[in-house]
Amino acid sequence: MSDYNWCHNPDCHTIETQSRVRGTGDNKVLRTMKIKQGRYNYSNDDTPDIYDYFCNQNCLHQFLRKFAREVANIRPVREPSETPIKIEKEQYESYRYQHNGNDYVRTPYQATRTTIINKNSS
Ligand SMILES: [Zn+2]
Repeated sequence: MSDYNWCHNPDCHTIETQSRVRGTGDNKVLRTMKIKQGRYNYSNDDTPDIYDYFCNQNCLHQFLRKFAREVANIRPVREPSETPIKIEKEQYESYRYQHNGNDYVRTPYQATRTTIINKNSS
């Protein structure tokens, strides 16, 4: 396993920053950024991290814009998923502000709060 990746944004090497400048004398180039694997893996495990493959958010989002269809086709979603839950509805007194021509008047009303109290596992 190599300890470094090259940034996967195909246009990384066209972004003008001092950190990308390589070469000597008159033979200067902008080079794709080199990324140390696990640089944000503070738990030192095998957790994959998107920033092992992209040098920053800008390069990640340039890649996603360019390859949006390909990325979506890696795991197509053709119907919504659902998570079974239990809810609790609760009445409480709230206020709204209504304009009466000159002022805003604080008017009480009976509001409903819906709380998710149970999320089934699996
Ligand atoms: Zn990059």
